[in-house]
Amino acid sequence: MFKKILIANRGEIALRIIRSCREMGIQSVAVYSTIDELSLHVKFADEAICIGPPESIKSYLNIPAIMSAAEITNADAIHPGYGFLAESPEFSSICAEHKINFIGPPPETINAMGDKANAKNTMKSVGVPVIPGSDGVLISHNQALAMAEQIGYPVILKATAGGGGRGMRMVERKEDLLSAYQMAQQESESAFANGDLYLEKYLIKPRHIEVQILADQHGNVVALGERECSIQRRHQKLLEESPSSAVTPEIREKLYDAAIKGVKSANYVGAGTIEFLLTEDGNFYFMEMNTRIQVEHPVTEMVVGTDLIKHQIRCHAGKKLPEWMTDVNLRGHSIECRINAENPDKNFRPSPGTITSFHMPGGCGVRVDTHVYAGYHIPPTYDSMIAKIIVYAQTRADAIKRMAGALDEAIIEGIHTTIPFQKQLLMHKDFISGDINTGFLENFDYEPKKGS
Ligand code: ADP
Repeated sequence: MFKKILIANRGEIALRIIRSCREMGIQSVAVYSTIDELSLHVKFADEAICIGPPESIKSYLNIPAIMSAAEITNADAIHPGYGFLAESPEFSSICAEHKINFIGPPPETINAMGDKANAKNTMKSVGVPVIPGSDGVLISHNQALAMAEQIGYPVILKATAGGGGRGMRMVERKEDLLSAYQMAQQESESAFANGDLYLEKYLIKPRHIEVQILADQHGNVVALGERECSIQRRHQKLLEESPSSAVTPEIREKLYDAAIKGVKSANYVGAGTIEFLLTEDGNFYFMEMNTRIQVEHPVTEMVVGTDLIKHQIRCHAGKKLPEWMTDVNLRGHSIECRINAENPDKNFRPSPGTITSFHMPGGCGVRVDTHVYAGYHIPPTYDSMIAKIIVYAQTRADAIKRMAGALDEAIIEGIHTTIPFQKQLLMHKDFISGDINTGFLENFDYEPKKGS
């Protein structure tokens, strides 16, 4: 087993990984930018090293600084968390050159699966249904026009290097295709230094359903339930749950089959997620694979009853997956609400600043993953997610009630958060009945509350 893991990340996920390391008897090393000196991941790691100034490019994306920190502290593995360098083939390959274990896939796998157009082709070749669209990247706007004509509008242009909903444009009419093409290309170029696009049919009101997988180095792959992530704002997830109220045992079996087939074809090792869109008629299509742990992994941990980060680490250390994972009964229901430092009354404008008072909910079946506390200053520099509240209960209805209570108990003062929005969402009758899809929030009338 590894002796010391450096965590190349910040925030709640860094702290989450430190906790697993601690229980596994593995030493942890935190890295931080100057502005994060007082963050909890720095306080709770066994060692902490400053890797640069606030801008990500000079700190959390600064590969030489991170590698030096790993060498100085004698870390034998690096966990990249999610975001930042988690899906960087370059980082993975530099770790290998330095003989440091990267807790993620080798560069070839990241290239094959992290590139969305490539991944679709890989999945298609093993018989997994994919959304109809271009074979690989588009070479011109004219090719996009011809392809859209063939599959029919609406279509969606997507950045092959995309993530976090960026570099995507839905197009309803051919007149709009050229400007959408140019905008998506520009956005993708500036966000990912790669302007390559592909095109696919835009599915109407599908559900976003993803399957968590774990794979060891001995050829064993397991699927650990699905997550429903249809509650999205501008293609960004806000609330996730497991299991999905739309997934029957028959659909689940087919989803597992497709996910496992895809993962095996890529000789994948570690934790990964296969994302699908599920249409009303019960058909599903592969959308993309994330070759890392995801923000919403806790809902799976709750219904499976295990620590995914520990198993991810074990897989990379060459251990076999436990026997029980081949046949898991999902138990109960779990929901996660992402609490962002944003003002829902002002179109979700970021709301950085100092948290003056902070109280998190507790009680049976309530879990909070956060790196912040009273007096903590939220810098404007990074992602606005400051906490995840996760609940577990026997049924979906009970989980909704438990989450509503947890959100009522939560007190965060000094900044605005998405809590008032989440509370209203939980009370919506269609949400309660499970009648949701990726377009749900477009038609959701949030009532801004003064002073919230
Ligand atoms: P990202 O990696 O940027 O998050 P995804 O490919 O995961 O992008 O897509 C994010 C969301 O965009 C999906 O969950 C879904 O809501 C929407 N989406 C993507 N592709 C399609 C499609 N072909 N039809 C309809 N909605 C789509």
